[in-house]
Amino acid sequence: MYIAMAERIKVLLIEDSAGDAFLVIHELKAGNFNPFWKRVHTADAFQDQLNSCEWDIIVADYYLPGFDAPKALEILKEKQLDIPFIVVSGVIGEQVAVEIMKSGAHDYLMKGNLTRLSEAVRREVREAQLRKQHQQAELTIKLQLTAIDAAIDGISIVKNDAYLYANPSFLRLFGYSYTEELIGKDWRVIYSPEDIIRFRQEVFPQLERHLAWQGEAIGKRKDGSSFVQGISLTLADDNLMICVCRDISELKKAQDIIAYNAFHDPLTNLANRELFLNRLTLAINKHRRNKNYQYAVLFLDLDRFKAINDSLGHCFGDQLLIDISKILKKHTRNVDLVARLGGDEFVVLLEEIRGTEYIVNIIERVFDNFQSPFQIEGHDIVVTLSIGIALGNKNYFEAADLLRDSDIAMYKAKQEAHNSYQFFDTNMHFQAQRQCSLEKDFRHALKNKEFVLHYQPIFDIAEYRLVGFEALVRWQHPMLGLIPPDEFIPLAEETGLVILLDCWVMMNACQQLALWRKRFPNFSDIKMSINLSPEDLRWNSLIKEIDNTLAYNNLEGDSIIFEITESILVKDVEKTINLLSQMTSRNIQISIDDFGAGYSSLNYLHRLPVDIIKIDRSFIQNIQGEKSNNEVVKTILSLCKRLNLTTIAEGIERPLQLQELKDMGCKLGQGHLFSKPMINRDIETKFLASSIKTKIV
Ligand code: C2E
Ligand code: CA
Ligand code: CA
Repeated sequence: MYIAMAERIKVLLIEDSAGDAFLVIHELKAGNFNPFWKRVHTADAFQDQLNSCEWDIIVADYYLPGFDAPKALEILKEKQLDIPFIVVSGVIGEQVAVEIMKSGAHDYLMKGNLTRLSEAVRREVREAQLRKQHQQAELTIKLQLTAIDAAIDGISIVKNDAYLYANPSFLRLFGYSYTEELIGKDWRVIYSPEDIIRFRQEVFPQLERHLAWQGEAIGKRKDGSSFVQGISLTLADDNLMICVCRDISELKKAQDIIAYNAFHDPLTNLANRELFLNRLTLAINKHRRNKNYQYAVLFLDLDRFKAINDSLGHCFGDQLLIDISKILKKHTRNVDLVARLGGDEFVVLLEEIRGTEYIVNIIERVFDNFQSPFQIEGHDIVVTLSIGIALGNKNYFEAADLLRDSDIAMYKAKQEAHNSYQFFDTNMHFQAQRQCSLEKDFRHALKNKEFVLHYQPIFDIAEYRLVGFEALVRWQHPMLGLIPPDEFIPLAEETGLVILLDCWVMMNACQQLALWRKRFPNFSDIKMSINLSPEDLRWNSLIKEIDNTLAYNNLEGDSIIFEITESILVKDVEKTINLLSQMTSRNIQISIDDFGAGYSSLNYLHRLPVDIIKIDRSFIQNIQGEKSNNEVVKTILSLCKRLNLTTIAEGIERPLQLQELKDMGCKLGQGHLFSKPMINRDIETKFLASSIKTKIV
């Protein structure tokens, strides 16, 4: 037989009779209670017990001397205690019984019949517990509602597609002043039509599957304005949805700015390298999928930008870059992408192109804008541009390769002329590779004594007499063989190493000259022509170096001639005149090399301390027999005669040219017709050892 464990219960008895109290306890025990109990019979004692213990039930006699049940109930009410209260009384009239129930007692029983007591106690205790739980739940709900009302996030409940509840933040977020404006309205009133469709097609199916969804949407305020909101939706029931949302416009803006900055150049607002490479990668892939899709990369670089920046200031340079970015934008379409890689380097990705004419068209329109000077801060500045083009083809896999090839083509364009463009071809790639390795090797070449001098004889044309040599340097590269100076002099000039190279040339050419003068007395008055770069002329210690070299070799200044190009004369006339004067005061002769080829310094030729004019090879090669072609040479010759300058014709290849030059009165000549440049031993056997006067014509 199963005997239920006696139920523990704390009973407070209000009873003056110990015997009656015993009966009550006895009855409870019989009803399977295990009571802990106290008996009081005064109001004070009752209060004390209420304060000291949490009672489950109070069983009270109705009348006691100086105390009674209604009084006890009053005390409970005062103390706001909800403890089940059962009256057990000897005699009690119906009237009293009703009264006592009204004042809060939960039940009453006759002392003579306590059989119902346990059942009543059990019931009342349970109900009190339920009452307590209910109160607790109500309190919790009240607190939660207060919290929801106070939340910063907007919170709403939608039932059957209509707003059932919205907290103050929700109303504020969507521009409603009071609850009634929104409650009862359809949920769609606060969304854009696009979002409503998206909710139907994407969001709600997910919400139904997972009961929750988080994302973003455009919120529509009551006044029609909109904002980006972050939303979290929860499905509480089939037709009950809880929506929590907040305005994330600022956050989005900040995110957008960060994302924009990561892919744009802050100065010009153009795309940066990162974005360009991304887009170019897409283009490469697109071309690989669809051969009809053609694209090209233009690499644009300003000529002399560093000089502009240095002389006119960075603000000026910045403004120029901004103006140029606008020109590039103007001449490209929306599908194209213009980017600035940094400095004065711009790139353009041309998409969907049809043939190269289209590209040339764009380039010519861009060059048109560079015809007239840029006007910045009251300055008129002529800017020129070099452009390299790489056409997309199936051999390209990497964006960086296209960028590299367009850069190589640009470099080539820069060497040709100002405002010119070049399409990339694979030959350029090999040239660039060669250039790159030359650059690396050049530094070691001086140390490793890899340079050699060749000498080209110079003749007096009328007398067929050898008057001197021009020293021409070559690089005996251990792997690539003999490299002509045109390939490495520009590189040496760029790196500044040309100064070291030319010092070496000067020293060796002077040593050779001194040796030949001594060994071959017939030629004791021959001179050595030595080429100088513009870089050399900018070097502060040049004169000191010349003095040392001459002294070391026991040579006078009149034994050497320096050949300088016209370009240096145009740049800084005063400084150049000063430097050249220092040379001529040492009886060193100055020769203007490649005369007529580039700039024209005819205007101030008379001001310069110059002795010799070396007419550029191109004019000499134009001498074909028809006299009319010789006008330029004639003009130069007559000008030099007037200014008392000696003339040399360089690049004489054919007897006819020599004859005509002789007829025109050109004093000196040099060229393959006399001899190619050669090493010292060959010069000795061919020209010095035999004291012949070489008869050419
Ligand atoms: P450049 O001063 O105009 O030298 C004359 C160039 O014309 C030489 O080329 C020479 O070999 C070539 N030449 C001579 N006669 C003829 C001819 O009849 N027909 C043709 N087609 N060419 C002829 P190279 O030696 O290749 O030198 C090229 C340039 O390199 C020189 O032009 C000069 O500007 C520079 N260079 C050479 N050596 C030095 C040097 O030691 N220092 C510096 N700074 N530059 C040098
Ligand atoms: Ca020369
Ligand atoms: Ca020359």
